[in-house]
Amino acid sequence: MALIFAVFKVSRLLRRINLPARGATYNETMRSPVFTSGFLIVLLWFCSVCVAHPCDEFNARLPNLPVTLCQSAQLRDMQARSVKDRTIWGRDVVGADAKLKVLVLGGIHGDEMSSSSLVFHWISLAAVEPADMPKPVHWRFIPALNPDGLFARPAKRVNANGVDLNRNFPTPNWERDARVYWESRTKRDPRRFPGTNPLSEPESRFLLEQINTFKPNLIVSIHAPYGVLDFDGPSVPPSKLGRLYLDQVGIYPGSLGNYAGIHKRVPVVTIELTSANRTPSEAEIHQMWTDLLRWTMERLGS
Ligand SMILES: [Zn+2]
Repeated sequence: MALIFAVFKVSRLLRRINLPARGATYNETMRSPVFTSGFLIVLLWFCSVCVAHPCDEFNARLPNLPVTLCQSAQLRDMQARSVKDRTIWGRDVVGADAKLKVLVLGGIHGDEMSSSSLVFHWISLAAVEPADMPKPVHWRFIPALNPDGLFARPAKRVNANGVDLNRNFPTPNWERDARVYWESRTKRDPRRFPGTNPLSEPESRFLLEQINTFKPNLIVSIHAPYGVLDFDGPSVPPSKLGRLYLDQVGIYPGSLGNYAGIHKRVPVVTIELTSANRTPSEAEIHQMWTDLLRWTMERLGS
């Protein structure tokens, strides 16, 4: 409404303004249509930046995401864009004694909305940990890695190019295996298309850059709805997080677990929530967080 009102007021102002005569004074030039049009463009840009807050979209799309929870997440632009030029948002929470770096990812599959919501809940838990608790972790949260899939109607697993981002990472022999797997094992399932080349997508390239520059000691990738816990890479896997129990389901060409966990030797905990549309209860969200923190400290803290 504020934007419409501002445009209306400036339009009325424009109608009252005449072209400046030759040798016009400074004040006349300032009131010229050319100057005012430029001012209008700048004003529109400024208003659009101010008004279009990411929480407007996230609140409308994600289950169990109160406005205040999204706003308190204080998301920042990660300087990365999706195929459709959507911003990829993130948030760092840096503990006072941070020695470990953990990358937490939601929504690599856009139709698994609960995974993005869970990341927002965990941001608030990471940010408000009691003062007397040790804070050994630098968390980096990416709540929606695939915003085009999340905000499509209906939401889609794949990105705007129809690529399953979780099959697009450059695992060894990707060229040989990924396409064969897609054709023979998935029967060309369009929801699992790995792309024409590894890292063909801006979203998977962004994640690879995060792995290379942030250098996480652990990656936590949240999915739904199979209700299990999976693990790839070195270290002893967590046996459970909340009510989810370990059930290692195997590896796929081009998957994040295969690439980061097995190829790059960065432990990857893959969480499969039980529902794509409903988040776990508040108690369960807390318990999963506590279990994750405890396992991280036990297995990676040293
Ligand atoms: Zn998934």
